[in-house]
Amino acid sequence: MTELSSPVWHPFTQHGIETRMPSVVLAAGAWIETNDGQRLFDAISSWWVVTHGHCHPKIVAAMQSQAAVLDQVIFAGMTHEPAEDVARKLVGIAPAGLQHVFFSDSGSTSVEVALKMALGYWRNIGKTRTGILALEHAYHGDTVGTMSAGARGVFNATYAPLLFDVGRIPFPYEGREQATLDALETACRGGNVAAFIFEPLILGAGGMLIYSAETLAAMHRICRHHDVLFIADEVMTGFGRTGRMFACEQAEIAPDILCLAKGLTGGSIPLAATLSTSRIFDAHKSTDRAHMFFHSSSYTANPIACAAASANLDIWAEEPVLRRIAELADLQSVAVERLRSDTRISNARSIGTIAAFDLAAQRDGYLSDIALPLRDACRKRGALIRPLGGTVYVMPPYCTTEAELRNVFAAISDAIGEVAP
Ligand SMILES: *Cc1c(COP(=O)(O)O)cnc(C)c1O
Repeated sequence: MTELSSPVWHPFTQHGIETRMPSVVLAAGAWIETNDGQRLFDAISSWWVVTHGHCHPKIVAAMQSQAAVLDQVIFAGMTHEPAEDVARKLVGIAPAGLQHVFFSDSGSTSVEVALKMALGYWRNIGKTRTGILALEHAYHGDTVGTMSAGARGVFNATYAPLLFDVGRIPFPYEGREQATLDALETACRGGNVAAFIFEPLILGAGGMLIYSAETLAAMHRICRHHDVLFIADEVMTGFGRTGRMFACEQAEIAPDILCLAKGLTGGSIPLAATLSTSRIFDAHKSTDRAHMFFHSSSYTANPIACAAASANLDIWAEEPVLRRIAELADLQSVAVERLRSDTRISNARSIGTIAAFDLAAQRDGYLSDIALPLRDACRKRGALIRPLGGTVYVMPPYCTTEAELRNVFAAISDAIGEVAP
């Protein structure tokens, strides 16, 4: 444990309550190890980023050799093979029509880029549209633009004066999908809607809320009909989380814009990409410099990060990743079935490699009093989890074994017994 006389200000952390935290010194496969020698099973893939496992040797080697040759270079007016290589590979695996790749550094920036591309498209074709639609309970990041698109709540109430309005579409709860489709139809018909942004099949930070591929396909049809750009935020769902490479594949749809980040480098180093169709790219392409896409960050397409992403995509091409995911998905649905008889919990659910359930919390929402004690009780039992309020989820790396998964559910069950008997 590190005593916080430290100058570090941690994310989503109340330093007045969490005064000590473990210091992590190494990671391998599905495990991390702290400086006092404790090994923890990484049941949340280190905030949803690690796919194959920590420190995959091919990704480590790719970063090492790239770092020795070309560490960083300006990406405006210059290009480099690691970026070209990742872009070609992404276009090769992405849903049809996504032919252009814009690099950035985080999920939030990939979404900011998507929103700016959408408005740029409409303005550049001379039919200015500015409205954005988003789902209730959505999470798209923590920058001002992405907070605006995300659900309003305790996490952004302070910043509300900075946020822009978006049209809010109700979440398609099972049995109430038609209300979502009707609201989307009405909002699109209202005109001035530039784009609809959504997390396909599962809303992550909003509480691991799952909806059907049929609903996703129906939302796509409505947006198509009204020529509203369809922005898939696959920052969490991309790279296999829901059972396929991209969640959109399950609805057999291709968005106009696709946001990728977390799993892009296998969880090793920050990199994000926003893919777009030629229609959107071409609207920015002109001899008029005022029509260019006005966005960059200093480290855009960092070569070391691109080398990691390229190695990650090679692993997808060379190793049986989808088979591992299918096996993990089966284990998750078995675990969820077992949870159904546990009266302390409700809504046990899973999609692909993600399993989740809700606890009868003392206080609703993200600040539920159960989250931190449960996390700490699991940590004592060798498992790293981080409940979203009263929602507990397990989203482990794809190298997780049956025994490891069984142990983590046992640890969580035991921990619930300790903190919420
Ligand atoms: C995590 C997440 C983001 C933000 O990504 P960061 O890399 O944390 O900025 C955006 N959208 C979704 C769906 C996410 O899960």
